[in-house]
Amino acid sequence: MKIVVASGKGGTGKTTVATNLAWLASQHGLATAYLDCDTEAPNGHLFLRPVIEARHEVARMIPQVDAALCTRCGQCGELCQFSAIVCLGQKVLTFPELCHGCGGCQLVCPTHAITETPRAIGVVETGRCGALQFVQGRLHVGEAASPPVIQAVKQAAPRAELLIYDAPPGTACPMIEAVRGSDFVLLVTEPTPFGLHDLRLAMAVVKSMKIDCGVVVNRALSGIREARQLCQQARIPILGEIPDVLAIAEAYSEGKLAIEAVPGIRRTFAKLLLELTTAVRSEGLPETVRRSLNHVIHPSTEPMARPGQTADDRPTPVCYLALRAAGPKAKGV
Ligand code: SF4
Ligand code: SF4
Repeated sequence: MKIVVASGKGGTGKTTVATNLAWLASQHGLATAYLDCDTEAPNGHLFLRPVIEARHEVARMIPQVDAALCTRCGQCGELCQFSAIVCLGQKVLTFPELCHGCGGCQLVCPTHAITETPRAIGVVETGRCGALQFVQGRLHVGEAASPPVIQAVKQAAPRAELLIYDAPPGTACPMIEAVRGSDFVLLVTEPTPFGLHDLRLAMAVVKSMKIDCGVVVNRALSGIREARQLCQQARIPILGEIPDVLAIAEAYSEGKLAIEAVPGIRRTFAKLLLELTTAVRSEGLPETVRRSLNHVIHPSTEPMARPGQTADDRPTPVCYLALRAAGPKAKGV
């Protein structure tokens, strides 16, 4: 299941939703990976605190001009839509930060004066946080084009039953690149005039890509009626509402996961995860995972024992952050 958590604008709580959902799913026995595609400002790691195990550079091919072969005809500059190559008098100048690596200039050059050379533009890091697999992309400072790094993050996706992609904010190329090829998009919004305006744009983009989507309303207090109305008109389901609680903002500012730090919020996210996965796939989650999450929502229900487990060692959510904080004495970490 590939689910992208996106938003029409920054600051709606997209990373809060993505990290808490991924962490919760992994705690309840679902093989899960969190992939941070917000490559200009990846911050999921601040909450999940993964151990990074591997790192690789992402490069893009940019043109290199052989002055001896160049006739200064100017055809490369005329073709380039990004002004990344310009013929000025007796010189051909290249601007690697603006280049999109399309290779067009090389194709039109009549004297084959242009070759391509790799240029590092970012890095992809992979690691783990307890049972949760972690991938993040990071665009190098000063680089303008994040889609190639986002593509590299997607290519580095590990094997998992649930892949949660944290998309860049907005509705431009980086968001579209993150959403492309996904099974479902969860749009995070806040019920303010700005939030709902940008939600409309995000809905339109996702619909134009013919990908199913749902909405989660963060800081659901005033304005929730307008948000519900908008979603009803657009025929897009609201899969969850996260209350406007100061403790969630405090947990965020301290780099803590809301489900670990705020009493009662684990239940909100458990409901959201069930609604979300059922919206993506009618059969939803495996029975053991669903029972385990239902136990969070209705503590009176019994979580199902996994094969080989007795009734007394049923899956109990493990807080790896707490175990790690307890140091080497904590067994099994
Ligand atoms: S590769 Fe494409 S974007 Fe880059 S300079 Fe050439 S034409 Fe422009
Ligand atoms: S198209 Fe080739 S020959 Fe013409 S200006 Fe560009 S690099 Fe030089």
